[in-house]
Amino acid sequence: MENCLFCKIIKGEVPGHKIYEDENTFVFLDINPWSRGHCLVLPKKHIRNILEADAESLMALILTAQKISVLIKNKLGAEGINVLQNNSRLAGQMVDHIHFHIIPRYKNGSLQISHKTDYKGDDLEETQKLLTEIG
Ligand code: 5GP
Ligand code: ZN
Repeated sequence: MENCLFCKIIKGEVPGHKIYEDENTFVFLDINPWSRGHCLVLPKKHIRNILEADAESLMALILTAQKISVLIKNKLGAEGINVLQNNSRLAGQMVDHIHFHIIPRYKNGSLQISHKTDYKGDDLEETQKLLTEIG
């Protein structure tokens, strides 16, 4: 897509630190890493988010995400990996070309990913009903 930053990086029109590519996917370092080796895994095809992604692209993405996770563990000594993927501005998506964040976690690393929320209200049975009823 013409005005997409990540399409431009894939095409080499904007510089990026490429780590890996194959037929369908492309990986480069996040310019503002949360930890050493923070990578972004994306499809070469412009797809906005997970809601619009086709099955073939999603399969290719998750397989590349796994490959890069193994690479990061082996080469950088990460003890853990977070795989994160944001959809919509509300959820923190800033670039509208779907990407998985591969975020290495190191012993004694300072990164904290918080699960904190004030939300307490879920009626689990009602929510289950809504999500599983047909139609
Ligand atoms: P999002 O918030 O959309 O899930 O993630 C977008 C990510 O893209 C951010 O972590 C941000 O640091 C990264 N980013 C934004 N602009 C550039 C850029 O020009 N080059 C690279 N390599 N990463 C970028
Ligand atoms: Zn794009």
